[in-house]
Formats: sequence, C-alpha cells, structure tokens
Amino acid sequence: MENIHSVLENIYNKFTHFEDKGQQATYIPELANVNENLFGISLTTLNQEQVNLGDAQQKFSVQSISKVLLLIMAYNIEGEKIWKRVDVEPSGAAFNSMILLELEKGIPRNPFINAGAIVIADILLSHYKNPENEFISFVRRLTNDTSIDFDLKVYASEKSVGYRNYALINMMKSFGNITNLIDEVMDFYFKICSLSMSCAQLSKTFLFFANDGVDPFTNEVVLTPSRNRRINAIMLLCGFYDEAGEFAYRVGLPGKSGVGGGILAILPNKYAVVVFSPKLNEKGNSYRGMAFLECLTTELSDSVF
Ligand code: GLU
Repeated sequence: MENIHSVLENIYNKFTHFEDKGQQATYIPELANVNENLFGISLTTLNQEQVNLGDAQQKFSVQSISKVLLLIMAYNIEGEKIWKRVDVEPSGAAFNSMILLELEKGIPRNPFINAGAIVIADILLSHYKNPENEFISFVRRLTNDTSIDFDLKVYASEKSVGYRNYALINMMKSFGNITNLIDEVMDFYFKICSLSMSCAQLSKTFLFFANDGVDPFTNEVVLTPSRNRRINAIMLLCGFYDEAGEFAYRVGLPGKSGVGGGILAILPNKYAVVVFSPKLNEKGNSYRGMAFLECLTTELSDSVF
C-alpha cells in the first residue's frame, strides 16, 4: 500500500501540470458549467485501504459509468436472456452512433453504447413500476450512502437536447426491440446517466469487480463469479467505445468511462481506481484520465495480461 500511495502521489503531482488537450463535453449544456480543471483520483484496494488525491471527494456526473450498474440489475433479473436483445461485441463506433443499429436490425452491439443501455433500461422498466427508485436504492446500498442521488439539472439538460438518443430508441422500436413507452424509457435512461458521485465513492462501490463479485465491505454477493468475469470482459472490450482497443493496449485493465470525465478501471484481485478530469479526447474519454491510468499501470507493471 505504501508503494501504491507514493506512486499515485508522484504521478498525480506530475499530472497536475499536464498539458490537457481535451475539450469538456458541451453537448449536454449543464456539463459545460463544470470547472474543467478539476482533477481527482481514488484507488481502493481489496484490503479496504483507500488513497484519495486532489478532487477525489468532488461529486460529478458519472454518465456512462452508470450503465454498468444498470446492466448488473438487468443481468441479475433476467440472466442470459438479456443477450437476445443486446450483443457483447465491441462496436468500433462512437457511443451514440446510429450506423450499425439499422444494419443489425435494432440489436445494439453491447450494453455500454447508448443504444445498448437504452435496451437495458427498457428491460428494467418491464420489471419495475418505479425503476428509478429501484436503481437509486441499489446504488445507495452498494455505496452504503443514502445521500447518493441523481442530478436533476443534468437530467433535464440532457433530456432537452437528447435528439440522437431519441433517434436511437425510435430505430430500435421500429425493429421491435423496445417494449415500453419511449418517453418512459428515455426518462429512466437520462436519470441514470445523471447519477452524481465522487471518485472516492465510485472506487469503493466498484471494488466488488476486483473481488469475484463480492463486496469486500459487506460480503454481499453483487454478481456471481461467472457473471462478474463476464461483465469485466465486456468492460475490457466495450468500455471505451471506439477507443476500447487503445485503452486495453495502453492501460491493460477492464474499465468504463463517462462523458462527465470519469474513468473507472479494475485490477482483478487488487484494486478499483477512478480518475476524474472533465476535458475529453475526441472519442469522449477523459484526456488526462487516460494518460494518468496509462502511467499508473506502467509504473506499477499492472495489467490483466
Ligand atoms: N448520457 C450520455 C449520452 O447519452 C452518456 C454518454 C457517455 O457518457 O458516454 O450521450
């Protein structure tokens, strides 16, 4: 731990002076109001030690990182049946791309592109009267923090300009891959994307992925070991949209990014790490976050390979 702590601190200090060539997401207007210089790191180890640096306690819009939690809920209810409606292949396309969706008859490539997460939201809506409440209760239980909530400003802001996501759901509905009302599915989808959490909360919450699906703090089985491995595999192949190959090559860990500037990564049997830095590269992943994680796993010689 001493070693990880000092390595993290050294890299963190180096990256506070980093020339960040990224651009903050502005397509969701509310995200443009976030201070683009924020920079936080949190790493939690399996023996329950946590290192927090910089703006690690600052809450931010987790955006697509939420899609992982959404998937866990649906997978635990329906099991392998969900893969009839969404695939597990890397998309090689942008997070909000329409192109493959028509060619592949409304079946999204994976649950981490927008179309895939919208199908997962539809599945949960078929099981729950109030899926938002179920989702937030699930997250609060995992984080052991009842203050966790959606950011309703971000939710309303994204909804007001969600044209592309509405286009995706309409395309899928035309192929019969959406069963509920479009507005209800989209409201739920935009809500889960607006989830607001800090690096410190996220690195603790997602630690079960490094522990065969068992929350080391509470011993709760969040996922069976087999499902845990499978979602780790999907994160490795699909967690970074059309930059998943680059992330696997440079960082070597399964993970998930969000357009709010957060990146989560897992080293099985060791730790969960979360970086937050709002400026994004052209693929929609945190520019400084990617570089930071590459440097971290290189210095520690950490990789799943
Ligand atoms: N809410 C975002 C959208 O639908 C999620 C995208 C992301 O974080 O990659 O555009």
